[in-house]
Amino acid sequence: MAFGWIDEQALVRRRAGLVRTLRPRPADSPLLDLASNDYLGLARHPEVTEGAARAARAWGAGATGSRLVTGTTELHAELERELADFCGFEAALVFSSGYAANLAAVTALAPHGSLVVSDAGNHASLIDGCRLARGTTQVVGHADPDAVRKALATHEGPAVAVSDTVFSVDGDAAPLAALAQVCRAYGAGLVVDDAHGLGVLGEGGRGAAREAGLAGSDDVVVTVTLSKSLGSQGGAVLGPARVIEHLVNAARTFIFDTGLAPAAAGGALAALTLLRREPERAARARAVAAELHARLTAEGLSAVRPDAAVVSVRAPSPEGAVRWAADCRAAGLAVGCFRPPSVPDGISRLRLTARADLSGVQIERAVRVIGETRP
Ligand code: PMP
Repeated sequence: MAFGWIDEQALVRRRAGLVRTLRPRPADSPLLDLASNDYLGLARHPEVTEGAARAARAWGAGATGSRLVTGTTELHAELERELADFCGFEAALVFSSGYAANLAAVTALAPHGSLVVSDAGNHASLIDGCRLARGTTQVVGHADPDAVRKALATHEGPAVAVSDTVFSVDGDAAPLAALAQVCRAYGAGLVVDDAHGLGVLGEGGRGAAREAGLAGSDDVVVTVTLSKSLGSQGGAVLGPARVIEHLVNAARTFIFDTGLAPAAAGGALAALTLLRREPERAARARAVAAELHARLTAEGLSAVRPDAAVVSVRAPSPEGAVRWAADCRAAGLAVGCFRPPSVPDGISRLRLTARADLSGVQIERAVRVIGETRP
């Protein structure tokens, strides 16, 4: 029977208690949300939703074509100028997702004969970029600039190191300044994914590269998503103008994909406007993360010290993590649950989002529920 092997895999998953299911969220969910990536609480901010609605009315529900044909509106151009300016880079290019932006950056900057040095903790989209790239990938130990140095030292020809700025599973930060120094010493480029840093790290949320003093560097390329702190949807690559021009001409996920929906561009632009006006939102997200971590630790829970707005809490087993998250949900709290095979190290965790708009009472309630339901 066609696809018979799928049933065998499904059985294995069911036996291991690792079946994933979709849970449609109602518009007015009663749950306290510590599971989304809406770090600054902007996804439902009236200025952001109005920016999206206005853009849809002016430009249409869809972009109508790929970026090089009809899919580049004046709104896309404005968003690209604003993203580049906000984060301190020469130019930016917007994609339909952060995933597509990562595939583009890695594949277009790793030609045949090149070396890609990739952190073992990188996001799936960077890993897939490495898989699609023509160059050879070497995976190195997590957050280890010396391992990157050793890998670069063995190679002649173009090379690029790729890393998340804030790792999505544990919320720890990459040693960006040290990585940039190593790359520079070997004439290699550095591509960093700031999905979890934009809006949270750096002055006023201008990102991890800004915080590390790397914004605008000739040899640094940053990818971002518009779907986390900016509360919208889409992705972008920021960097030197010549790199962006290269992507326009060479990146397949740019050339062959329909442009970002105007509503998503309008929403992201409104969020950037808001963030310029209210830069304290970034520091507030970091403060909420620090408070969550301190309170969870005081409860005797094992939480990783957060470098941004992701707080990771260790669970005893994959089944324990699944049950823990379900018990939190039953008690009115939505939390993320990471377990194999999504986590390569085999450690299961609850993943909490320190949203800037959480109140002290909500933080207290979240910690109480997590403590009371611990497996
Ligand atoms: N990079 C990282 C580190 C992420 O966590 C995500 C989203 N899960 C992405 C890239 C992909 O971004 P998008 O959701 O916009 O495709």
